[in-house]
Amino acid sequence: MRCPFCGNIDTQVKDSRPAEDHVSIRRRRFCPACGGRFTTYERVQLRDLVVIKSNGKREDFDRDKLERSIRISMQKRPIDPERIDQMISGIVRRLESMGETDIPSKTIGEIVMEALARIDTVAYVRFASVYKNFQAADDFDKFVSELRPDVPPEEE
Ligand SMILES: [Zn+2]
Repeated sequence: MRCPFCGNIDTQVKDSRPAEDHVSIRRRRFCPACGGRFTTYERVQLRDLVVIKSNGKREDFDRDKLERSIRISMQKRPIDPERIDQMISGIVRRLESMGETDIPSKTIGEIVMEALARIDTVAYVRFASVYKNFQAADDFDKFVSELRPDVPPEEE
């Protein structure tokens, strides 16, 4: 980070902590060239989120993929599409506000299940049943394809 006082690019981070809103990290920086001190706020950009699989592999977070798996688990459920959109945005916001760019796939699955459980039990059961295999297989593409219906019949 370039020093705003003297232009030196080699500044040091003295202190990092979550800002009060918990969607950003506040960093106190120090410039060894001029002694200047300044503060930066670091915010997660969704496109920078990285999913860490349980086998340690990294993969760029893909909102469309997430949305696909959620929509498939909600297929033919009597739920307002707008509500699904809101739920997905809420999940993404939660991921963004974790203050970390690296997010374990397990954490994403748990957040999705939590959100689904609040909205629709059937969708939750569909998602959760596939999620178990997903954790073993740890392959998100497989996960999405297994969620295609002809998965559990309506249980009402
Ligand atoms: Zn400086």
